[in-house]
Parts: sequence; structure tokens; C-alpha cells
Amino acid sequence: MALNLTQQLTGKVALVTGSTQGIGHGMLRGLAQAGVSVVMHGLVQRDELETKLKSITEETGVRTGHSSADLTNPAEIRQMIKDVQEEFGRLDILVNNAGIQHVAPVHEFPDDKWDALIAILLSSAFHTTKAALPFMLEQGWGRIINTGSMHALVASPYKSAYNAAKHGIAGFTKTVGLELAQKGNITCNAICPGYVFTDLVRNQLEATAKARGIPKDQVINDVLLADQPTKRFVEPEEIAALVRHLCSNEAKSITGACLSIDGGWTAR
Ligand code: NAD
Repeated sequence: MALNLTQQLTGKVALVTGSTQGIGHGMLRGLAQAGVSVVMHGLVQRDELETKLKSITEETGVRTGHSSADLTNPAEIRQMIKDVQEEFGRLDILVNNAGIQHVAPVHEFPDDKWDALIAILLSSAFHTTKAALPFMLEQGWGRIINTGSMHALVASPYKSAYNAAKHGIAGFTKTVGLELAQKGNITCNAICPGYVFTDLVRNQLEATAKARGIPKDQVINDVLLADQPTKRFVEPEEIAALVRHLCSNEAKSITGACLSIDGGWTAR
């Protein structure tokens, strides 16, 4: 008889970067609900991490860990992967999700913001993947899931660094998927959400309003949801359900894919 998802995933260990809030938190909770031991990560104080983890432990009973590695620093990234592998003895599911945003016309885009976006959204996925893969290759099972965006597939103005990094993530995902195709049950995919109403989006309201010369509430309807045909935000729980499916054995042929979950944004 086929194993259900919890039977398949119990005992596995997942690290979700940027999982203290927003989409990553939804993914982390979704994996914990399927019995996966989870490592929460984000640039927040240790007590905040511990409080947030407590609610996951109380709800699901899974084993948890945490990291506050700065993803702009490759040495900290490598140490984070090493720490997880040492603490849990394994790392089966790697979700590269952490992100920031900055909105400005390209000729005014600050150099330090460009560097930070590329480091956090793109280069960090290379460093985590490189460090995590040897264990996955050894055991012949692994799941690498990158949070892309509709902006991995299409562009919007004033987001040069974000669009470049997310299109880069799409290319990286395809490459890793191809390299792993005959290495056992190891897959690499990108999930490409449309707008989800998280802090990342809340924080860009003002800059977008300024760049376009319109009030903030108009940005929600006329900019954010204008191209999202469903006219509603995607919920983190919907993304978590897709992550859980990608982690199932039934998803072993889904690899190198950029999967849209964008309310039809990229359908036209
Ligand atoms: P969020 O702002 O709610 O959370 C971002 C997370 O990244 C936090 O946990 C934060 O601590 C972490 N982080 C930021 N900088 C970091 C650094 N230097 N080192 C370590 N951790 C750092 O954002 P979100 O909206 O949940 O976005 C998560 C991912 O989803 C991002 O990759 C984003 O590009 C992508 N995405 C978001 C949307 C959306 O509409 N919100 C749509 C498509 C894709």
C-alpha cells in the first residue's frame, strides 16, 4: 500500500530560509504539519525565533531548530548548513526562500541595494545548494525548492535587481534539476507565486507609490492586483500545500520546473 505524505516525510529534516514570517513561515508550518523536523531561519533575534518555534512545536510536536545566518555572507551560509547537518544528522529538504525588495528606476537604483538583492535572492541559493547537496547525493533522496516569483518569468518596471535575481533563480533551478535528473530521487524546482500580502509587499507600497506618483491604496488595486486576474492575494497556505506535494515521492518526476501559483498572472 502506498505511504501517505506524513508516513513518507516523518523523520526528514527541512531548512526553510526566511521562515520567521510571510511565505517561508507558511511553508515551514506546512512541512511541520506533515511530520517534518524543521529549522526556522531569519534575520531576527534569537528570542523571537524561539517564541515562533514554540507555537510550531506545540501545534505539531516535531523537532525544531533555528538559524539567524545572514544570507549576504557565504561563510555564514556554509556554517548554517553544517550546523543543521551536525545537529540533526541530515538535511533532506532545502527551501531557498528568504528575500528582500527594493523599488526604484534603474538609473537611481542604489548600488548597495542591487548587491544585497542579488546576494540574498540568488547567490545564497547557490551557496546553500552547493553545501547541502553532498548529503542528498549520498542518500539518493532530496528536495530543493526555490521561491521564485511571477517576476522569475515576466518583468515589472522599477524592479531591476529583483527581476534579474528571480530570472536567475529560474535558470539556476533548471540547471540543478538537469544535473540531478539521474542521481536518484532528488529534485529541484522553483515555486513562482503572484502577490502575497506579506511585509515584503507592505514595505514596497510607499516606494511604488512614489515611483508612480500615486497614493498607497491605489497601488494595491491599480498596480499589485492589476495584473493578478483573480484580484486577490495568494495565501501562504496555498504555497505550503504545493511545497508538501513537491516533497512527496509522487512528485519525483517534477524537476527543473518553475511552477506558477499566481492567480493567472503569467497566463497572458
Ligand atoms: P518577508 O519580508 O515576509 O520575509 C522575508 C524573510 O527573509 C524574513 O524571514 C527575513 O528575516 C528573511 N531575510 C531577509 N533578509 C535576510 C538576510 N540578509 N539574511 C537572512 N534572512 C533574511 O517576505 P515574503 O513576502 O514572505 O517573501 C519570501 C519570498 O517570496 C522572497 O523570496 C520573495 O521574493 C518571494 N515572493 C514574494 C511574493 C509576495 O508577494 N510577497 C511574491 C512572489 C515571490
